[in-house]
Amino acid sequence: MVTTGHATVEGIRPRECRAPDPMSPIAAEAVLDTDTIAPKLLRWYDRHRRILPWRAKPGETPDAYRVWLSEIMLQQTTVATVGAYFDRFVARFPTVEALANASLDDVLHAWQGLGYYARARNLHACARAVMAEHGGRFPGTVEGLRALPGIGAYTAAAIAAIAFDRKAAAVDGNVERVVARLFAVEAPLPAAKAELRHLTGTLVPDRRAGDFAQALMDLGAAVCTPRAPRCILCPIGDSCRGRGLGLAETLPRRRAKAARPTRRGIAFWAVRPDGSVLLRRRPEQGLLGGMVEVPSTEWQEKAISESAARKEAPVRASWVRLPGTVRHAFTHFNLELAVLAGETDAKTKTSAGDWVPLDRLSEQALPTVMKKVVNHALGVARRSRR
Ligand code: SF4
Repeated sequence: MVTTGHATVEGIRPRECRAPDPMSPIAAEAVLDTDTIAPKLLRWYDRHRRILPWRAKPGETPDAYRVWLSEIMLQQTTVATVGAYFDRFVARFPTVEALANASLDDVLHAWQGLGYYARARNLHACARAVMAEHGGRFPGTVEGLRALPGIGAYTAAAIAAIAFDRKAAAVDGNVERVVARLFAVEAPLPAAKAELRHLTGTLVPDRRAGDFAQALMDLGAAVCTPRAPRCILCPIGDSCRGRGLGLAETLPRRRAKAARPTRRGIAFWAVRPDGSVLLRRRPEQGLLGGMVEVPSTEWQEKAISESAARKEAPVRASWVRLPGTVRHAFTHFNLELAVLAGETDAKTKTSAGDWVPLDRLSEQALPTVMKKVVNHALGVARRSRR
């Protein structure tokens, strides 16, 4: 018998206010036979699997480097976005050895646009650890993978299953959704995570664990979608308790999120007469660690006044506030940056950063928020020349 968030599966009853799916043959009292799920899902996967750049074709042996790389890229980023990046990245760093031998700057540069740059730094550190500690081969167990930089519980399980066919339950947001619906788990996330991981583990078959993990991912992406799940097409629909109870679309439940705070700051767009601009590198640790940025005041919820900001300017200049605001959404906060622009004289020296010619900006590891600042400053300058 399998337990769910509020009751055993056997004990679930449809609530009066919800209409059970009349097309679903599942009775509310029926026990979910977990042994039948994997065979049905694998049969479906053999016919409907997605073709993805990092995925081994049927009969091919998966390449752990590509599996690992794709799993890191797919953290916080959609399959559609990762596709083109993945091909470019692998063309530039075709093996874990090539990645380990590259400079961190090169890796950050190749990562531009994918965001969450801590991933790129960990990627580089992980490649070096695989070369130094494992002779260039990824360990094939969940425990061995988890000991590497940047590899958490989900990623370790996904790599172990997909690259090494280990019987491991890889549970990301898509899988949580499918499993919450399949077992009609009504306990809200994130509290229900441990239970959903346990329930997923009850489904993983002894053979083809990697295909099963990918089948669950594909089902979540194509059929058991967040809105309007396509239950009529679902290969496990006849076993699905969420569907039977008319709850599918309402699951998984989530605890209400706190509103995202807004932080504010003032960026300094300092330009020398030769057209070069002042950039600096952020500290290695923390948000956007190791990335290049336009200098700014600290980002904080209490807005700083322009006069106070001028005292923090990295160089002497007559600063002028540019019209408009640069906005960017991070996971945990929204950012609003005002921009002060100032021209310095040709001899201005500073230890606050490096002067970079405008035509070499594209070579810098600028995160998306800083590209917005650059585009904003250049856009204002262009408009004022017209
Ligand atoms: Fe259940 Fe429908 Fe999701 Fe299939 S698509 S697992 S039937 S909710």
